[in-house]
Amino acid sequence: MDPLDNILYDKKFICAHCQHSFASKKVRLRRGRPYRRDPDFCEHYENHAENPTLYHVVVCPECGYSCNESFRKGVPPQIEQLIEEKIAANWTKKDYTGVRNIPEAIATYKLAIFTAGVRKETHCVLAGLCLRLAWLYRYQKKKAEEERFLRLALDEYEESYQTADYMKSSMSELMILYLLGELHRQLGDPAKALRYFSKVVEHPLKESDPKMAGLARDQWQTMREDMKKQREAERDHAG
Ligand SMILES: [Zn+2]
Repeated sequence: MDPLDNILYDKKFICAHCQHSFASKKVRLRRGRPYRRDPDFCEHYENHAENPTLYHVVVCPECGYSCNESFRKGVPPQIEQLIEEKIAANWTKKDYTGVRNIPEAIATYKLAIFTAGVRKETHCVLAGLCLRLAWLYRYQKKKAEEERFLRLALDEYEESYQTADYMKSSMSELMILYLLGELHRQLGDPAKALRYFSKVVEHPLKESDPKMAGLARDQWQTMREDMKKQREAERDHAG
């Protein structure tokens, strides 16, 4: 038996666009344990095969329609027509249903981001895809690409927060505020990061999600301490 059979299994899918029926690999729940989790929830595994992020997107091998579980169930016929013209008609058959390496996983996210754009999925769905794609570049230590997709995720989460479309997802207001703070922190805007972290810490519903409130408080404190140290270093330098 292939040792990967312990970790991965074949899940059945029916393509929402062409109705092709196929199986695609998914990671069994609770099989792997990440050895590290970054403040933006990126998980690091010793063995990439255990990382569910690599198998988050499903790509129809027949037509190229690519999605995750957050995509809307049905779309109007005009959008079906657009998917046919922009995706299926240009698709060169490629199979992403088996074991994936990181470059293959990256390709599936780019396909899903394109499909999400054609289907006009919510900002929240796009943000989630961009954030995970940034993580894949983080594993590869490709800093410029990682930042490009973190920035896109941040822009989409800001739109999602403004338009409240995250309310259609499983994401809480506290979580989106926390992520906005964390992404601003990572992208070098400490003032905005602190503003979002304090929104979480002072939120009237903070008791409803103590984990998120705790994370925001930790990041807020770490940043305040770093800024204090930096000011002291600058003062010592000046004096
Ligand atoms: Zn299809």
